[in-house]
Amino acid sequence: MKNIPVIMIIFGGSGDLAHRKLYPALFNLYEQGLIHDNFAVVGTARRPWSHEYLRQQVSDAVHETHDEVNENDLAAFTSHFYYQSHDVTNVEHYETLKNLAGDLDNRYSAQGNRIFYMAMAPRFFGTIAQHINDQNLTSTGFNRIVVEKPFGRDLASAEELNKQITASFDENDIFRIDHYLGKEMVQNILPLRFTNPLIKNIWNSATIKNIQVTLAEHLGVEARGGYYETSGALRDMVQNHIFQIITLLAMPEPKDLTSKSIHEAKQELLDSMIVPDEQEIAQHFVRGQYLGSDMTFGYRQEPNVAEDSNTETFVAGEVKFKKGPVANMPIYFRTGKELREKTNRIDIVLKHICTPYGQAHSNNISIIIDPDMQIFITINGKKITEPGIRRENLDYLFSKQEQEKVPDGYERLLHDVFVNDSTNFTHWSELKNYWKFIDVVEEAWQKENEEGKQINQYLPYRMGPKAANEIFESPTERWIYE
Ligand code: NAD
Repeated sequence: MKNIPVIMIIFGGSGDLAHRKLYPALFNLYEQGLIHDNFAVVGTARRPWSHEYLRQQVSDAVHETHDEVNENDLAAFTSHFYYQSHDVTNVEHYETLKNLAGDLDNRYSAQGNRIFYMAMAPRFFGTIAQHINDQNLTSTGFNRIVVEKPFGRDLASAEELNKQITASFDENDIFRIDHYLGKEMVQNILPLRFTNPLIKNIWNSATIKNIQVTLAEHLGVEARGGYYETSGALRDMVQNHIFQIITLLAMPEPKDLTSKSIHEAKQELLDSMIVPDEQEIAQHFVRGQYLGSDMTFGYRQEPNVAEDSNTETFVAGEVKFKKGPVANMPIYFRTGKELREKTNRIDIVLKHICTPYGQAHSNNISIIIDPDMQIFITINGKKITEPGIRRENLDYLFSKQEQEKVPDGYERLLHDVFVNDSTNFTHWSELKNYWKFIDVVEEAWQKENEEGKQINQYLPYRMGPKAANEIFESPTERWIYE
């Protein structure tokens, strides 16, 4: 692999994301030789750490995620890490950071290349972007910025943030990261759809009845109630992960596999996204909040959550497009916290057909994203000794060894940032479409709140509020995963 010279600055170097995901991923990329002699990483955060302390943290992070580690390699790797105590609002700190990056550039011959990674609370993204611009932190080589989610909390704030970032970075150099796009089975959607005529030819609204995307979490908000109060499930999961998955499921076939062609095909679809009106939102969208149990708090009892909070920890809804292979066909989605089990899956539900055998079972294609990686297709055949039709699964299951080989989403996506491949990142024009949709739903809910309508409550560790079973367009539709 090519050795890419670069100085990487991580804002939020003492945080959870950096520790659990970024440092282990960087080590793997180091082991593969993508970064080797000519790189340095500057971790910044408020805490007064030393370079040595950061290196120890990085070393711990790698040990926590790897069964076996080459200690010599790890020591060589961590020696490339530097810590800069930094308050994101302090101008002088950016000057110090700039000087440190310049010194490291000379020491490691990094050719003026910079990657800035915003791994901090989203409320700081705009301030950091502003300072990168005002204090001229960009350098003479390539300058790329990776922005974590959420990118804004509505269209207006996303536009404001985008303006701050584009003051210093071209759209091509902005990597809005969505780690779901680094997942194996999400990256498998396009190959599955386009390489097998059996699937390619049925991928249309004439054959498919609906598509269902379920991203279910087992955990509650834990210590993040304060942040979650400003977000909710719709902004936290739908605006990014669910809409990206839906885009891959509904987009037309790209001309080729370049990032440009894939984003063009996505955009063609998204320009035809149907924004629901108030009545459609009332019929096809449901929000809910988890209740407590003997052992657990309900959402409203969680730390830093208002007693009368209307923030949703569950949402189910519907999206349709005017164009594309599944035009005007309902795509249902749901996501929530404290659901029965952690599972991320897509179910493609085929239409019933009239048969000489009477009512046959409906057939589905299911893509299991997490926790296992699997695709199964149901097929019908005759019963062996009695009349009638039975349904069986054709399974495409990853072996344990294959599952172990799959890199973490962050490793894949960081690799792509280094090699400048933005295929699996969110473009601004896509994000704009997503926010337009979300804003309309949020406004309708705001109105409902003002009218005193209560949010649905749901029992923990089931599949969300009962009302979520009523969002379908026809009485013959239901959730495949119950
Ligand atoms: P975190 O709270 O664990 O870390 C925040 C970091 O910011 C810490 O290093 C902290 O010291 C630093 N910080 C806070 N205030 C500061 C200030 N005024 N000046 C300088 N530094 C300051 O958060 P996290 O979980 O690492 O999340 C970071 C980002 O990554 C968020 O945007 C989050 O949405 C996103 N994200 C996180 C995960 C995850 O698994 N943790 C997954 C997906 C996305």
